[in-house]
Amino acid sequence: MMYSRSNVLFERAQQLIPGGVNSPVRAFKSVGGTPVFMRSAQGAHLFDVDGNRYIDYINSWGPMILGHAYEPVVKAIQEYATYSTSFGAPTELEIKIAELIVSMVPNIDMVRMVNSGTEACMSALRLARGYTGRNRFIKFEGNYHGHADAFLVSAGSGVATLEIQSVPGVTKTVAEDTLTAPYNNLPAVEQLVAAHPEQIAAIIVEPVAGNMGCIPPQPGFLEGLRQLCDDNGILLIFDEVMTGFRLARGGAQELFGIRADLVTFGKIIGGGMPVGAFAGPKEIMEHIAPAGKIYQAGTLSGNPIAMIAGYTLLKTLQENPVIYQQLEEKKNYLVNGLREALGAAGVIHQINHLGSMMSVHFTEYPIIDFTAASGANNELFKRFFHAMLERGVYLPPSAFESWFISHALTRADLDFTIAAAKAAIKAVKNS
Ligand SMILES: *Cc1c(COP(=O)(O)O)cnc(C)c1O
Repeated sequence: MMYSRSNVLFERAQQLIPGGVNSPVRAFKSVGGTPVFMRSAQGAHLFDVDGNRYIDYINSWGPMILGHAYEPVVKAIQEYATYSTSFGAPTELEIKIAELIVSMVPNIDMVRMVNSGTEACMSALRLARGYTGRNRFIKFEGNYHGHADAFLVSAGSGVATLEIQSVPGVTKTVAEDTLTAPYNNLPAVEQLVAAHPEQIAAIIVEPVAGNMGCIPPQPGFLEGLRQLCDDNGILLIFDEVMTGFRLARGGAQELFGIRADLVTFGKIIGGGMPVGAFAGPKEIMEHIAPAGKIYQAGTLSGNPIAMIAGYTLLKTLQENPVIYQQLEEKKNYLVNGLREALGAAGVIHQINHLGSMMSVHFTEYPIIDFTAASGANNELFKRFFHAMLERGVYLPPSAFESWFISHALTRADLDFTIAAAKAAIKAVKNS
């Protein structure tokens, strides 16, 4: 493939934008090479500025669950743009999306819309602290909750990809209130709770981890966290920025039948526009300003264009639950095909998957936490990534990211991907 225009654009971008990108993982740093600049996309296919076509397994890191340029969303945005792109005053649309979210997601009465997953997690943590009157919280190694200071301790996603263990600019005092435990390790969490009686406001967790590859919770892990929170007056926050509206209409809470005290959303909730949200029972949520004293605000929060995009996508998901079954079928077909392709080439690997999330790790050990994910052969992943890109398959440019299956993927796309994987792994082994 030719990447001449992407190469030129990356040169220009690096002069003007730190690292040439507006979010680190896009820069291909961990896999090397030049990031591909996109021009357009339709359904499951991306088209770059050099005219190359790719089958997309990033899907804007999740939002494009029904594929790119999904027509009802595009039409809705076009219509609402003519009514003004922002008011800074309430609109009926904000009530409609809140009603829709409350009808889809278990255990919530109220929602506050924000502009990103980062804002959602940051605000939910503030709420948990204000509500409990406690400062500390527990997060898991390799989980990612956006880039607010408190969460940049043992974080996944780009922080893991770039191997930034402690982030300059995050003060020691802030980091001291962040306690960390290995994912899927309930005894470690129990020890932290026991060592800090009545100091812990919240436990925040990705109910299915998606920022160190895809790592499902071990049986009993989430149940154990729920119990621990109940026993110790701690709020359980499910960070469903990735899993919300993806694993099921009601996210991980619905899939696993476990109640969270607060839930955060992003990605799918905005239908491809910059949106996040946090939600919970009325009794907790009414502590948020102006109902309560815990301050949280946003000039563009509840933006009408973003709301109609999110509303249109969520409504489709609500009305067509068969989508989730079909997503799972597509994912299973791909997982089986990849296992066969990698197995036939004699390449030791693990494929973790749940619902429409999956990831491939080159190791013989099960990937259940960040230590295991880091121990895989990420050098091989890097070469596999490039061999796939070269063959028209766009995978996340890091072994620490989940692949996302979109509903727009056809059997032909999946077969193309499996054939590409067969050729790619052969090329990589022979190089
Ligand atoms: C993407 C992500 C975030 C951050 O969302 P942004 O919109 O990128 O700020 C937070 N939590 C999880 C689980 C995520 O996957």
